[in-house]
Amino acid sequence: MRTQSREVRCTTCNILLAKVEENGLVIQRGELQATIHGEFHAALVCYRPRCRKLNVLRLSTVTKPAVATA
Ligand SMILES: [Zn+2]
Repeated sequence: MRTQSREVRCTTCNILLAKVEENGLVIQRGELQATIHGEFHAALVCYRPRCRKLNVLRLSTVTKPAVATA
């Protein structure tokens, strides 16, 4: 049971790019699943062909609950 999860959406077209959960940033595309935790910057290019917007996240899951800024 998850207590907290937050969606990360493209700032331009609002499509779902990833989720931020207790254990980190979770990206799931088809068979690929990645969970990233720690303190980092992530650059996600929107996968929608007509958008392709670069979304930059600053995320820390080390000392406090995950906070993402898109
Ligand atoms: Zn987009």
